[in-house]
This record gives sequence, C-alpha cells and structure tokens, in this order.
Amino acid sequence: MFSVHGQASDILIVGGSLAGLMAGLALSRHGLSVTLLERSNDTDRTGAALQVGHGLLEQLTGRRHAAATLATGIQAWQSVYRGLRIAAEEAGIQILQNARVELVGQDDGHVWALTSDNRRFEGSVMVGADGYQSVVRRQMCPERPDAVFAHYLAWVGFAEESALSVRFPPHLEFLEAGPYLLLGFPLTAADGGVERGRRRIGWGWYDAGHNDILRETGAVEGTLVRHSLRPANMPDALFEELALLALCHWPSPWREAILECIARKAVLGTPVVEYVPDRLASGRMCLVGDAAHVCTPMTGNGFATAAEDAMALARFLDGAALRTDPVAALRSYEVSRLPDVRRLGLSGQRISQDFVQAARRP
Ligand SMILES: Cc1cc2nc3c(=O)[nH]c(=O)nc-3n(C[C@H](O)[C@H](O)[C@H](O)COP(=O)(O)OP(=O)(O)OC[C@H]3O[C@@H](n4cnc5c(N)ncnc54)[C@H](O)[C@@H]3O)c2cc1C
Repeated sequence: MFSVHGQASDILIVGGSLAGLMAGLALSRHGLSVTLLERSNDTDRTGAALQVGHGLLEQLTGRRHAAATLATGIQAWQSVYRGLRIAAEEAGIQILQNARVELVGQDDGHVWALTSDNRRFEGSVMVGADGYQSVVRRQMCPERPDAVFAHYLAWVGFAEESALSVRFPPHLEFLEAGPYLLLGFPLTAADGGVERGRRRIGWGWYDAGHNDILRETGAVEGTLVRHSLRPANMPDALFEELALLALCHWPSPWREAILECIARKAVLGTPVVEYVPDRLASGRMCLVGDAAHVCTPMTGNGFATAAEDAMALARFLDGAALRTDPVAALRSYEVSRLPDVRRLGLSGQRISQDFVQAARRP
C-alpha cells in the first residue's frame, strides 16, 4: 500500500545531482513548484573536472544570488554541488534525500513516482535526472532502456597537493602513452583557494586493458554497467600492477599524484558508459543530463551539456505552458535539444571506438 506524500508539485524531478539541481533551478525561475527526489544521502562524488562557465548560476535562475556562488573554471564535483544545492534551497526547491524511486508513470493529467519505502509523489511534469541507469528512461524508452559499456574504464583519483613535493601546472593536461590516455587537472581547494600547495590534484587514466576485473567483480555484466570498481574489490596485485604501469608510462608530476593515490588505495575504477538518445520526451516526462545522454568523459562536456538541457527545458516549459499544454512544451524541448545531444553522443562513440581499437593494436 502506498501513501501519497505531500501536495502534488508542478515539477517532479527524479535524481538530485548536478543535472537535477540545474533543471530545478532553471524551472523555478518561472515560479513553478519543484520537488526533487534523490535516492542517496551522500553528497560526495569523485571523478569529474567540471568546467563551470562564468555566470552559470545567474543564467540558470535569471537572478542574482545572495548566499550561493559557483566558482568558475575547472571545479571539483563537490564545490559545484554545494553551490547549486544552496541556490536550490534559496529558490524553495523541496529536496528529499533517501527517496529511491522504483517506478514512475503518467496518465492524462499527471505524473507519479513510487519510492522503495512505499511513498507516492505526484506532479504535473516529471524530469528524469537520474543518471545513466535512469528509471525514468526505462519507462520512456522501453525499446532501448540502458546505457552500454564502452569497453574501457577510467581509473580516477584525487590527491592533496600539499602531500606531494612536485610542482603541478596551473591547467589541465592530456597525455598519451602506449595504449593509455591520462587527464590530469589541478582543482581549487575546498574553500575555493587556488594557491599552489593548497589545491587538489585530480587525474583520470583511461585504460582498455582491465575489462576482465570489471566482469569478474560484477561491475560490468554483458553490455551493462552495474557499478564502479571500489578499492575494497581491487586485489593488492592490481594496485601493484597499476603502480608499475604508472612508473613506466606517466611523467612527473602526474606520476607522483597517481602513486600517492595508489599508496592510499584511493583509486576508483569507473567503467565508461554511453547512450545516444532517440528521444528526450514522452507525454509529460522528459530527460536531462546523463539520464538523457551519456558520453565518454574524455569529451569533458557532460556537465555543460546538462546545463544546456536545463536552460532549454526552461525556455519551453513556463507557467503558461504547464497550464495549457505541457506535452507540447516537452516536445519542443526534445526537438530543440535532440540533434545537438545526438551529435555529441555519436562523436563520443567515435572517440571511444578509436581509443579501444588503438589500445588493442599489438
Ligand atoms: C569518471 C567520470 C569523469 C567525468 N568527468 C567529467 C568531466 O571532466 N567534465 C564533465 O563535464 N563531465 C564529466 N563527467 C560527467 C558529469 O559528471 C555528468 O555528466 C554530470 O555531472 C551530470 O550528471 P547527472 O546529474 O546527469 O547524473 P549523476 O551524477 O549520475 O546523478 C544522478 C543522480 O540521480 C540519483 N538517482 C539515480 N537513480 C535514482 C532513483 N531511482 N531514485 C532517486 N534518485 C536516483 C543518483 O543518486 C544521483 O544523485 C564525468 C563522469 C564520470 C563518471
């Protein structure tokens, strides 16, 4: 038996990470009521060097912000999340954590979401911002519900610059060595500081040679990605092998950052997934961010694309459209966004295929 939770919102967003927060902020500028359902209660993710454009928050909400700020340039996931979250609270968005949506649906007049703890939420329009394993996409696109494994992974780690005695460049670097690619980037400190010695150093090492461990640990099953490979599931021999490979292939200072993370066993193996969409809207439901389209992180534009989704959605879906014809508004959103996100997705697929083929060459 499900209990109906609270009043129906204008907008029900499934997924409270960056794409969900940005969609909520963009739609709340029209005075729409927004409820955001997020399954987790952790607000700590790793694995991204997000390029934040100048004035992004103001572009999303159409106004200045008292407490919330978003630092520009390359930022860590946490600092972007923090800025968006504060802005969302300022905008009156209702954020519910520990709300894992298991089933979604729609009828003529409304949308609904059922959570694993038997709560039912209702709204006028649903935005699926629930990432690459989207439940909303599964409902909207039953003929092709899943993002698929791109046959390589990214080893990802973060080190404190203060723990390293080498000097890092001020900007992001892309390096190639043998069958591998490495993206290294300095990130601002937790308090926004950019001085040398106080920054965090991030790196992502693309590798098509360790797919077996992903399958052995159940991180990848067939073409589906289930989860990332956590350090607890990585045998010591794998850390030793990665350390040797890093010594052989990566130059200083990135080598030191990688070895420091390996020594702490603070490395995550993230299988790369892809999804090129045929659809972004269906009736009163639509998709944004990684739920809508997933591209290799090598392109470095997942975050910017999610921001563009949010702004495009808010261009078509305002208070009047919600009252008169929300289905037409979501169709217009799809027509305006689909060509661009398909182009990006297809070019990401070519990048992945070239990388995997080159890595397999003897
Ligand atoms: C290793 C890696 C490196 C990356 N590097 C970059 C980069 O350098 N630059 C860049 O721009 N982008 C990068 N990206 C991509 C970027 O992080 C995302 O595209 C962007 O943050 C948008 O994510 P999202 O909010 O759509 O999805 P997610 O971050 O996956 O968020 C989905 C949210 O939905 C929640 N959720 C899922 N299912 C449910 C459910 N059933 N019920 C309720 N909640 C649910 C999840 O808990 C999560 O909070 C990288 C990604 C990875 C994996």
